Amino acid sequence: MTQRPSPVHVREPWPHSPRASRLRGDSHCPYLASRLVICAVVATSFGSLAVTPSTWAVYLVDVLLRSYVIFVGTVMAHEGTHGHLGRSRTANEWWGRLALLPCSVPYTNFRKTHHLHHLHTNLPDEDPDLFLKSRFWPEIPLRAVALPHYWFLWLWRRGRIDRRHVGELLLNYVGIVSVYLCIAWLIGLPRLLSGMAPCFVLVSILLWYPFAIKTHEGFSTGPEALRSHDYYGHFMFWFSFGLSMHRVHHANPWIPWTELRHFVQEDPRPSRWRLLPRRDIQVV
Ligand SMILES: [Zn+2]
Repeated sequence: MTQRPSPVHVREPWPHSPRASRLRGDSHCPYLASRLVICAVVATSFGSLAVTPSTWAVYLVDVLLRSYVIFVGTVMAHEGTHGHLGRSRTANEWWGRLALLPCSVPYTNFRKTHHLHHLHTNLPDEDPDLFLKSRFWPEIPLRAVALPHYWFLWLWRRGRIDRRHVGELLLNYVGIVSVYLCIAWLIGLPRLLSGMAPCFVLVSILLWYPFAIKTHEGFSTGPEALRSHDYYGHFMFWFSFGLSMHRVHHANPWIPWTELRHFVQEDPRPSRWRLLPRRDIQVV
């Protein structure tokens, strides 16, 4: 039986710490897997729009599959914010922008707010993602859809938007709009809207509810181990491309998703219940 390594609770400078480089190894392109996933995400999410579903059932499958693929793209963009998509900041930014292209969210705001989320997890007024904390459940989908656009407002109110940020953001939006206009020209606006608009809502819920709201449930501001939770099991690991390992990720953001599999714990419940996602919530 393989021993589960214990995460080292040491914060190092990231995203380009020597420890992260050692973990990624030098023998082959350590970023290849994530970059291939990003290429597959972009090709599949846009390429599948070329086929118009013939029935409502096929349309439903079409939207669900594309939503999942776009979700995987957001997970890869998250890797970019931690420097796991390339050796340089520029490489990480370009791969991150590409990964977020299908969900039409600018990478610039995500990178900046995500670093603040790690530094100030669950702290009121300091963690930009705390916007997801809802009083009533109907707020959840609304906040999930609004969050990536709310980030700009959050940063602007706190004086964290400079000229460089605005320039980057504008270029990012020009790129997104250009790509979407080209696709609309190729396949027609009705197919683009019917194929993408429902996905934007579903992706927001799939990403933020299980992998942000539930992985920070309780929104503790106590010890780091209590502020975020992991999901048990390899199914959740592979389904979410490592995003299920949230506590380990927060404690060790320099570990790329491909290496987080070594920290996965199996659900201690009887095997018949293990298909239901469950979190390892620690208490003091
Ligand atoms: Zn992160």
